[in-house]
Amino acid sequence: MEVLISEEKILARVGELGRQIDADYQGLPLTIVAVLTGSLILLADLIRRIHLPHRVGLVQASSYKGATTERGTLLINEALAPDVGGRHVLLLDDIFDTGHTLSALAPHLLDRGALSVRTAVLLRKLGRQEVAMEPDYVGFEIPDAFVVGYGLDYDDDYRHLPHIAVLDPGRAAPRSEG
Ligand code: 5GP
Ligand code: MG
Ligand code: MG
Repeated sequence: MEVLISEEKILARVGELGRQIDADYQGLPLTIVAVLTGSLILLADLIRRIHLPHRVGLVQASSYKGATTERGTLLINEALAPDVGGRHVLLLDDIFDTGHTLSALAPHLLDRGALSVRTAVLLRKLGRQEVAMEPDYVGFEIPDAFVVGYGLDYDDDYRHLPHIAVLDPGRAAPRSEG
């Protein structure tokens, strides 16, 4: 597998994002809400580079491919839903691809009482966006290829890789969930 972004580059960029978040949220009650499962490694690295006091929550969402709709509806696991009332939320995901996941989750968190919702992603895939929303913090922009590692999976494998790699061409890659 071809390495697209090395571990060193990822960690340096995550440090920069942490400093930016520190500056932007000074004095505000911040809760980082991470989308399972792909953002777990990013979450662990990023929160140790944010020095402001903050809380952490998790959200699980999966796209359900309905027979009648072209793109699936997002199913949100309410059992995990963090209490974000009175909190400024930074919604964290591994990658912004079409944008449907984050653009559906953001209003949901506002409905649950968040004071504001911004989004942060390690990766943004170019040329795939289908929503009007722009992610607020982006680690790296990448070409339209299926990537794994640093939390991102292919069929639940490869999450443990310390770098971002392009999955071997020729393997069919599902884009729908997780
Ligand atoms: P979106 O809703 O922005 O289209 O996509 C969100 C989800 O699709 C991401 O959280 C991720 O789970 C998955 N995804 C999109 N592109 C890739 C990719 O290149 N590699 C992996 N492993 N997952 C992807
Ligand atoms: Mg996945
Ligand atoms: Mg995901």
